[in-house]
Amino acid sequence: MSNNSTKTDVILIGAGVMSATLGSLLKELVPEWKVTVFEKLAKAGEESSNEWNNAGTGHSALCELNYTSEKADGSIDISKAIQINEQFQLSRQFWSYLVDSGLIRNPQDFIMPLPHMSLVMGEDNVTFLKKRFEALSNNPLFKGMEFSEEPGKMMEWLPLIMEGRTSDEPIAATKIDSGTDVNFGALTNMMFDNLKTKNVDINYNHTVEDIKRTSDGLWELKVRDLDNGKIEYHTAKFVFIGGGGGSLPLLQKTGIPESKHIGGFPVSGLFMVCNNPEVVAQHHAKVYGKAKVGAPPMSVPHLDTRFIDNKKSLLFGPFAGFSPKFLKTGSMFDLLGSVKPNNVFTMLAAGAKEMSLTKYLIQQVMLSNEKRMDDLREFIPNAKTEDWEIVVAGQRVQVIKDTEAGGKGTLQFGTEVVTAEDGSIAALLGASPGASTAVHVMLEILTKCFPEHIKEWEPKIKEMIPSYGLSLMDNPELLDELHASTDQKLGLSEKYAQQV
Ligand SMILES: Cc1cc2nc3c(=O)[nH]c(=O)nc-3n(C[C@H](O)[C@H](O)[C@H](O)COP(=O)(O)OP(=O)(O)OC[C@H]3O[C@@H](n4cnc5c(N)ncnc54)[C@H](O)[C@@H]3O)c2cc1C
Repeated sequence: MSNNSTKTDVILIGAGVMSATLGSLLKELVPEWKVTVFEKLAKAGEESSNEWNNAGTGHSALCELNYTSEKADGSIDISKAIQINEQFQLSRQFWSYLVDSGLIRNPQDFIMPLPHMSLVMGEDNVTFLKKRFEALSNNPLFKGMEFSEEPGKMMEWLPLIMEGRTSDEPIAATKIDSGTDVNFGALTNMMFDNLKTKNVDINYNHTVEDIKRTSDGLWELKVRDLDNGKIEYHTAKFVFIGGGGGSLPLLQKTGIPESKHIGGFPVSGLFMVCNNPEVVAQHHAKVYGKAKVGAPPMSVPHLDTRFIDNKKSLLFGPFAGFSPKFLKTGSMFDLLGSVKPNNVFTMLAAGAKEMSLTKYLIQQVMLSNEKRMDDLREFIPNAKTEDWEIVVAGQRVQVIKDTEAGGKGTLQFGTEVVTAEDGSIAALLGASPGASTAVHVMLEILTKCFPEHIKEWEPKIKEMIPSYGLSLMDNPELLDELHASTDQKLGLSEKYAQQV
């Protein structure tokens, strides 16, 4: 428990996977720095990082079709897929380091090997998938990817999806066995358990209400202890705003120029979950389809095997919803409260521009359960309503900002790191590709905010993340070596052997 007023080196706001990752990196790089965490909830990893609030995909662009687009000349642009895959390799290496050093244990409780597949229907989509496969499969990062449009093979890969399919529409899939399912909630808790043993002062039930610059250049946080309602003040040289959906309002309170002209639009997610062991046993993959025309990229439908608390289940979705809250546990006034004189025109411009998103969200909100079952039956023709229930996932706050390419009020689908010019404060906004790329994003923050230390930290970073600063695509031997060693340290090789 914190005193009523403290001075510390680093404050992390929020106990999600992002703060957990930054705290873990910092404690390895500069163990002597004092780190304090404030989390408004009673536990770590309860908002977007919770296992039921996200899909648990170890995003590495093995199956997500929105990371590869078709160019005007018909060729496939794989640059984004390469970038995301490279970023996921950094996460795998850091998690392996944590396991190997005994800082976290039982990797099977947070990561499992799972084939990643893409599935498409219709002639044009099959042509697209084939071209995508050809563009990716020769790249070392995507080694082992297979393509098939042959019904027998598809039945072997996807029995639940192929059974009872009567349409003679062309259908095709790709499969790659090196994918993963990640329980980010468990991982977050493991990292915070480790941080507790490293003298990190973790304060649950403490909500940060205000952030101000002091005359001596530090940041002062006004924090409410929710157990007794008392106000505390804490100062730090460096603050990370890792509040997930709650980051934007906190960033706005800092008043830094970089916080202006940015808005946020919340999109909530729903999944359908199946726990019927007979159905669950017939599927073993993450299968990503194509987003419907006019639907935003985060709405790509997928059918996933999940491993949570040693139990297998199936997840289908996401369906989008609308709530003005920025966090699941947020307030109905979050969206309205985020509109400020400096971002009102940005927000209005986005509203005018994004009519198709508004229309899509209205349609999604109006969906009945049977309509959702119809969407599911495009994946599983024989799906029975009684086997599936709805779970409400996390809130994503999509960033809206003015960009050169998109103009005023452009909706962003990725993550955005916002830092003060002097590097004394950083915030993470947006949700995609999210938790999978936490290590890459936190390394970016370390580089931007601690330029005076990054050189001296480099040897330790390389010990933790051997490919730091290198492209693995251009170093295929190192990639193979790291794949083998991270597979072994994360317990993936032995699980992989059991499933084939
Ligand atoms: C539907 C959905 C599906 C997703 N699927 C995937 C996926 O398959 N793979 C993937 O990699 N990523 C996925 N993501 C994204 C991923 O979940 C997030 O990127 C990641 O969890 C964000 O972590 P975080 O630490 O920034 O935020 P969070 O986990 O939300 O943590 C923020 C914490 O800050 C606390 N907080 C907020 N405001 C305050 C305050 N004022 N004071 C104190 N504490 C505060 C909150 O209570 C919370 O605990 C998905 C997200 C959603 C919503």
